Amino acid sequence: ILDQNINRSNLETYCEGIIEELRRPFKVGEHELLLGVSIGVSLFPEHGRELQVLINHADLALQQAKRMGGNSMRFFSSDVKAISIEQVNLESALRKAIFKDEFVVFYQPKICLRTNHIVGTEALVRWQHPTLGLLPPGQFIPLAEEAGLIAAIGELVLDKACRQTNEWHNKGFQISTSVNIVAQQLQRGNLLEIIDRILVNTGLNPLSLELELTESSFMEDKTLVRTTLESLRGRGIKIALDDFGTGYSSLSYLRDFPIDVLKIDQSFVFRIGQTDKDDAIVRAIFAMGHSLGMDIVAEGVETHEHLAFLKEQGCDMVQGYLISRPIPAEQLSAMLFEETHNTTLRNLA
Ligand code: C2E
Ligand code: MG
Ligand code: MG
Repeated sequence: ILDQNINRSNLETYCEGIIEELRRPFKVGEHELLLGVSIGVSLFPEHGRELQVLINHADLALQQAKRMGGNSMRFFSSDVKAISIEQVNLESALRKAIFKDEFVVFYQPKICLRTNHIVGTEALVRWQHPTLGLLPPGQFIPLAEEAGLIAAIGELVLDKACRQTNEWHNKGFQISTSVNIVAQQLQRGNLLEIIDRILVNTGLNPLSLELELTESSFMEDKTLVRTTLESLRGRGIKIALDDFGTGYSSLSYLRDFPIDVLKIDQSFVFRIGQTDKDDAIVRAIFAMGHSLGMDIVAEGVETHEHLAFLKEQGCDMVQGYLISRPIPAEQLSAMLFEETHNTTLRNLA
């Protein structure tokens, strides 16, 4: 913008105006479209005297604005540069980690509330970083998505989780495993091929595999997503909708996509017993999910109070620290072994 009268503070207002304007839903034919907007700004001469430098710096600020969740603006600053350099390092470390296979999969048991037995697990990835130690997914999955590396990591996780679950089957534990999948993996169009190959290589029965998607997976290329999910389901693989109730919660997804399982988001579980409204929302999710013939899993179950309420609602399965944190495969094997050799059922009353 070449304008002598523009300064830092009115520029901010100006950008916010642009963001607001573009965020309004608009119609293209019969479709209503929503745009997200992020803006990165560099100023002449503070942030550079050459055009290319200014553009690079604005681009770094833009990436930062996106990382903050989008729909915001950000000025370039040396902090932005420092963070970006850190990101670049992390990104190249992630690439190496894929080669060196530094990812480990933890498993969190899922308990069936009818039998009080472990019926499944959720596979949750961790990065065994050579110097930083064991990193939780929150510290690298978003970056992996941004850098286009999530499909490669996802494939490693799928392979490990299927192999491990088949091993449990061989030991006589007929449990299923859910694996988290992001939109990017579906959009690439080769997920079916990858899963078919992994099922053959690991020997896992597809009936014991579940994929967890969030609503963001349903936002783009709906036809591709629907046909992929239908083919997966045709193989006996279950589809779960993760973090249900957050995001856009457009209920038409429940009708338009083949979903077998709803996973109520932890934020609702944490609020059980806090206000009548909170409880009513959870009740409504159960009534709706069950009337659509879906199984309902509650995650983030931390207290006996949560559990009692969920039982009363006819919750099918629970997962949470009350039962176990995500643990390495050997520890879960020990839990399964103990369960079958211990006649007293887990005390979850
Ligand atoms: P998610 O799929 O919703 O997984 C549940 C998260 O809640 C896990 O965090 C789990 O450790 C945590 N959790 C379970 N029970 C409790 C509880 O009682 N209290 C509390 N406070 N937390 C509980 P984690 O392992 O850090 O994973 C975070 C997210 O990272 C996952 O959320 C998932 O979206 C993503 N993620 C994990 N593994 C993978 C993966 O292999 N691929 C992809 N694409 N995403 C993954
Ligand atoms: Mg999940
Ligand atoms: Mg979740």
